[in-house]
Amino acid sequence: MNTDAVLRINNLHVHYQTPQGAVKAVDEVNLFVGRGERFGFVGESGCGKTTTALAILQMIQYPGKIVAGEILLEGKNLVELNAEEMRRTRWREVSLIPQGAMSSLNPVMRIKDQIADAILTHEGRSARTGLNQRIEDLLVTVGLQRPVAQMFPHELSGGMKQRVCVAMAIALKPKLIIADEPTSALDVVVQRIVTQTLIEVQERIGASLILIGHDMGLQAQIVHRLAIMYGGHLVEMATVKKIFQAPQHPYTQVLIGSVPSPKTKKSPFALPGLPPALLNPPPGCVFHPRCAKALEMCRTQVPPLHEIQAAHFVACHLYR
Ligand code: SF4
Repeated sequence: MNTDAVLRINNLHVHYQTPQGAVKAVDEVNLFVGRGERFGFVGESGCGKTTTALAILQMIQYPGKIVAGEILLEGKNLVELNAEEMRRTRWREVSLIPQGAMSSLNPVMRIKDQIADAILTHEGRSARTGLNQRIEDLLVTVGLQRPVAQMFPHELSGGMKQRVCVAMAIALKPKLIIADEPTSALDVVVQRIVTQTLIEVQERIGASLILIGHDMGLQAQIVHRLAIMYGGHLVEMATVKKIFQAPQHPYTQVLIGSVPSPKTKKSPFALPGLPPALLNPPPGCVFHPRCAKALEMCRTQVPPLHEIQAAHFVACHLYR
């Protein structure tokens, strides 16, 4: 892994405007992803991980809006691009394997036509030469056979459809691939095979990968670093080893404690209370109503993300 950053997110805020007020889906997120690095986002549903990914792709839907911050892809601020510039950037520089990617395939188009669409849209008519061969080669790269190119999605298993989505995501050799829970609809064996394929192609084309999910075990096997999100905030970011061996933020500690262990057979810890309402989040630390270690200041002061050791960042008053 090279440490120079492909992606830098600085002070990102994403709000959804509702008649009741602004829902703060992402609140002051700062992070970077290194070249060739596999970076994981974890947290419970609604914590802001998918919204952050959609913000990178400039795919936040109305009434959502990036209200502050910059998203630098190799120094280019994606927030400032117009629609046409961003259309050219997607797939070519940053691609997405979306949640439920399998159902994102068009059921009435052959696989080759769907992949061809993505390539021709970005590369123009000149890409027609050798296109069929290129598509078949792409399918082989993700472990599928050449005849799959002639098939329709309903003729493929879930794992095969997911591999087609991986093939489409790497078709233009982007610098960054964002995979949003790419294997959540697959059984465990197929999940492992598809995951391995994703890692192999990501390494082959030298791309960076952002993997979004809540399966801590899967993340531990795949990514180099993890970012933990809670209530729209990034609360901890470090290497996988540090997160699993010495989690520092009380929420991360609960997350790690909730992973079942066949060795100890201990019961997973269940966190009392509910996730915060982002329309009206608690003042101070957004986690304080559920935190067993909360201090008085936690009720009023938002803890900034702070580097407590080399490359280990935590947003918690306990470490200041
Ligand atoms: Fe708990 Fe306070 Fe740390 Fe928030 S800042 S996680 S409430 S100790």
